[in-house]
Amino acid sequence: MSEYLLIPPLLNPEEIQSCSPSLANQLAACSYQTAFARDNRFDRLDRTNVFQLRGNVIHEITAEGPHKLRDVPDDDFKKEFDELWEKESEVHYQRLQKDWFPASVPHFTQWPEYALAKARTRKKVKNIIQKIRNSEGERRGPAVEEWLEDPQHNLKGKPDRIETWTDGTVAVVDIKTGPHQEGIKPEQRRQLIFYAHLWRVNENQIPEKIVIENAKGDRFYEDIQESDIDDVVTEVLELRESFNKVAEGNYESLATPSKESCQYCAYRTQCNLFWKTYREDWDGWRVSIIGQIKEIDDVVVLDVVSPSDMINTEVRFKKPDDFLFDISDQIVVIDAEKTTQTEIVKIKWDSLINDTPVVTSN
Ligand code: SF4
Repeated sequence: MSEYLLIPPLLNPEEIQSCSPSLANQLAACSYQTAFARDNRFDRLDRTNVFQLRGNVIHEITAEGPHKLRDVPDDDFKKEFDELWEKESEVHYQRLQKDWFPASVPHFTQWPEYALAKARTRKKVKNIIQKIRNSEGERRGPAVEEWLEDPQHNLKGKPDRIETWTDGTVAVVDIKTGPHQEGIKPEQRRQLIFYAHLWRVNENQIPEKIVIENAKGDRFYEDIQESDIDDVVTEVLELRESFNKVAEGNYESLATPSKESCQYCAYRTQCNLFWKTYREDWDGWRVSIIGQIKEIDDVVVLDVVSPSDMINTEVRFKKPDDFLFDISDQIVVIDAEKTTQTEIVKIKWDSLINDTPVVTSN
């Protein structure tokens, strides 16, 4: 097996001043990832993917659609909704093309479960419009996507919804775009309680429930106490402080590699601890490899360096159209697709070779 040659970069991330729930979750998952994300020399690595973009479209349309389509007559609703949806999808498709140039990216109509996501969102927007109409004249409607701030601790965030129910209960609601969401995950709990704190500061009211609503409209609830809110605030402030006091050149000490934190991390190619810890089964149907090129013809043969537990010490893939490497070069392949033959992988439109998208006729 050939030698492992990756030299980790010296990071110089921007200090964290203001903290949002998503930043707090990233810090909790792996603060080394945050160090990459806050060093603008690595911005080019932070590419979007079709799941994220499809989620963004659903999120935008769910937030804006009820206001834009509120006065549309029923007979025209489907047509006007579809126009709004496609316009938003086109914007995100262009972002995908830009991020992944020169790879040939799938059109938004080919994104996974595209038609289902559109139909579900159309139904959901219609239901929200109906709820808004029904709640007109009530004491307080739902607060939707308002920026909230805690100036004392420099925390801020924009919850999806804060609802005041008829019995006076205040609930923080997050709307998830994936249909397979069940229950409240630990990072979602942290995010929702973070919003509960912001609501407490801004409105002088303490939310008693956190709620996750999935794409099907199913809801999952948890009761919270004021002490839960205090605990999350303390945790977030400690995470920020620990990050900001790391000595220059020592950010690698913050790395916490695991299947959960690394699986979709944009900085895997640059992360030594990832490659030292990575196991083939972290990725399911995908695999990432550091390897030394042994043969190049129509097919490239790699001598595998990492993951060290790979069944085959040699792996081959069809040579991409723009492959410019030579025998003995060490390359990093990210997110190739596994095949039924364990020694063969496929380079897809969203695979990377040495941080760069490739042109492939696969
Ligand atoms: S690859 Fe894993 S350990 Fe490395 S920065 Fe990303 S999440 Fe952290």
